[in-house]
Amino acid sequence: MTTAVIGAGIIGTALAYQLQKRGRNVVLIERDAPGKGASYGNMASIAVTEFMPASRPSIWKQIPGWMLDPEGPVRVRPAYMPKLTPWFLRFIAASRPSKLRELEAQGAVLCQRVYDDLMPLLKETGLEGELSEEGCLSLYTDEVEFKADREHIEILERFGFPYEVIGRQAIKALEPELSDKIGMAVLFPQNRSMRNPYQLVVRLAERVTALGGKIEQGEVVGFERSEGMQAIRLKDGRRIAADEVVIAAGVHPAKLAKILGEPVPLESERGYHTQIMKPGISMKHSIIWPARAFMVTPTAGGIRVGGTVEMAGIDAAPDYRRSKITVKRAREALQNLQCENFTEWMGHRPAFPDTVPVMSSSAKTKGLYYAMGHGHLGLTYAATNARLMADLITGAKPPVDLKPYRVDRF
Ligand SMILES: Cc1cc2nc3c(=O)[nH]c(=O)nc-3n(C[C@H](O)[C@H](O)[C@H](O)COP(=O)(O)OP(=O)(O)OC[C@H]3O[C@@H](n4cnc5c(N)ncnc54)[C@H](O)[C@@H]3O)c2cc1C
Repeated sequence: MTTAVIGAGIIGTALAYQLQKRGRNVVLIERDAPGKGASYGNMASIAVTEFMPASRPSIWKQIPGWMLDPEGPVRVRPAYMPKLTPWFLRFIAASRPSKLRELEAQGAVLCQRVYDDLMPLLKETGLEGELSEEGCLSLYTDEVEFKADREHIEILERFGFPYEVIGRQAIKALEPELSDKIGMAVLFPQNRSMRNPYQLVVRLAERVTALGGKIEQGEVVGFERSEGMQAIRLKDGRRIAADEVVIAAGVHPAKLAKILGEPVPLESERGYHTQIMKPGISMKHSIIWPARAFMVTPTAGGIRVGGTVEMAGIDAAPDYRRSKITVKRAREALQNLQCENFTEWMGHRPAFPDTVPVMSSSAKTKGLYYAMGHGHLGLTYAATNARLMADLITGAKPPVDLKPYRVDRF
């Protein structure tokens, strides 16, 4: 049985690897090189405590204020506003209290099994040592700021995720570089980080070929179907025969899904990072400061600062003022952070308005599957997505009910 997986980001390569291991004859098709999309420059966090829907009122009520602030954590480019409206209306619809409860549970059930799926994958790729031992510190100046984030903690409590509230002295003991401005923090011990998330994609792609799978460079532009899938068509005219096709193309599947008669509201939540090679400080934990909307992760090549959401579609040029804003904010927490030797990067988080991914067979075509829309948590979810999708495709019973993640839920 030949299975074509379209897109060699972390989602596609991890799934291609699982399928090849289970005896499928996999062709992984990538128009660029494996791992050069969103999976290249994310914040490297296995962020199991960040599954809550973005559409909760405490977030969207702040959006109008953020929009007026050019340095705010969310920015919509005015020219993109009309195109974004249908997605945004669905986003608001996903903010009903009963809907929020469902979405939280759908994110939590995936996050609860992340390490069960990830650790074997890291072991098999020889990257176990690339996962940090330390967790993530969520920072607050004081009790008032902490209380504003209380809803987040309450959701985690409900699903049994561990956390520890610590004060100034304990913060200093864990991360001496943190400023005295930080009066409180919450330690999330399970939010560990990869030293280099790109390397995981590269290793997985190597494992796919080592097990007999193929990687083809080319852009998928069309499909051949009769009863079920037959082949895919590449832009350069090539045809690749496939009995099964999985669309795992990051932020790009909307075009492909439309051709296949299953349109989906997938948008890019663009994010930026600044990789500082000589930061002048060292850190063990990653940090997030919810009120300032940035994250800092210690990585293999120095320190990575990132965050912010920019809605401007797939094609607009990056606006690196966004990455400069996050560095400016990071320096409020890390006053000795130096930023001389650095690179900047922009990537597309593939986001559905209700936050949860699609992990699904097609509702219309036999042999067609979708793995997309993992949003802010694609690295976190990759191993779990691969496990669940491989079960679905090979006819095993997935340990999680996949109904909520269906492609025809929109
Ligand atoms: C700034 C930022 C920080 C982030 N931080 C984190 C984090 O800390 N933790 C976390 O879990 N997640 C994080 N994410 C999210 C995570 O990076 C993404 O969810 C994840 O990388 C998506 O993986 P993917 O494989 O779906 O997409 P991608 O990595 O974008 O891969 C998709 C691939 O498909 C290819 N492709 C597209 N169309 C076609 C076609 N027609 N034919 C052939 N190939 C095609 C593309 O070239 C690309 O290589 C972050 C994202 C950003 C932008």
